[in-house]
Amino acid sequence: MTEGPIVVRSRSDFSRWREAIGADRPIGFVPTMGFLHAGHVSLMTAARRDMDAVQGVVVVSIFVNPKQFDERGDFEAYPVDRDGDLAKCRAAGVDVVFMPDDAREMYGPHFATSVEVHGLDEHLCGAGRPGHFRGVCTVVLKLWNLVRPTAAYFGRKDYQQLAIIRRMHEDLGLHGRIEGMPIVREEDGLAMSSRNTRLGPQARRDALGLHRTLEAIRRDFAAGQTQVAALLEERGASLPECDLEYLAIVDAATLQPVAHITGPSLCAIAARVGGVRLIDNVELVP
Ligand code: AMP
Repeated sequence: MTEGPIVVRSRSDFSRWREAIGADRPIGFVPTMGFLHAGHVSLMTAARRDMDAVQGVVVVSIFVNPKQFDERGDFEAYPVDRDGDLAKCRAAGVDVVFMPDDAREMYGPHFATSVEVHGLDEHLCGAGRPGHFRGVCTVVLKLWNLVRPTAAYFGRKDYQQLAIIRRMHEDLGLHGRIEGMPIVREEDGLAMSSRNTRLGPQARRDALGLHRTLEAIRRDFAAGQTQVAALLEERGASLPECDLEYLAIVDAATLQPVAHITGPSLCAIAARVGGVRLIDNVELVP
């Protein structure tokens, strides 16, 4: 068994480690909120592979960021398993885990800044979760400056988040690159999520409706249907056991709704199932 990762709990200790390894040492970075699953592990594995090629190191952050939760209950119910997380990081060959104890350690006592990317947050999750992406961008930029990664790895499951972070990265001229990684699913198709653990047995079955709906739309699109109204017709209504927040087809770059698919597009869904908010998406490329 390999040695476990170095666990760093404060920004000052992390900065010291960062200075010590030198500015030129490549770093692959995977930011997470913990309760790690195979989706996170796929990002860590990609980072490990890329960093092995350049004698680099892999850093994972685990921080449940209160700024990106629009509901206090959701924040408080967010699952935590630090020992399990460290075991998964170790198995994936992660070098350093940055795990600040709380928001005060992450942000400091006088934090008053926020980062907002405009436009891309108008639809999908941005419409129903005010301030969510502001919280995401703020923490990602703060982590970016601390870690100074050569490459940072994000999942396409949070497609809108990835698009917004790419915009911020380009707009603010952040160094390093961003890698967008495929969605990892359970065997039956449910997109992996830390929140899946909160699904009861019935909700776990009902949650499959999200994937089934997206697959049906993907099949209709593959069969030649490009009219969005026809693709979406009745699809939401066929999910009575889910409390649908949105089911939408948007331009893959602007995330604005389209009526007719003529270029790369995204079909995205968000719903509450048994009280748990889940998201999923499929890319529709003509
Ligand atoms: P989270 O811990 O939910 O903030 O997620 C951390 C990173 O893991 C984000 O970049 C997510 O997009 C990514 N991620 C979460 N679930 C999956 C999944 N099922 N497949 C691929 N990436 C994922």
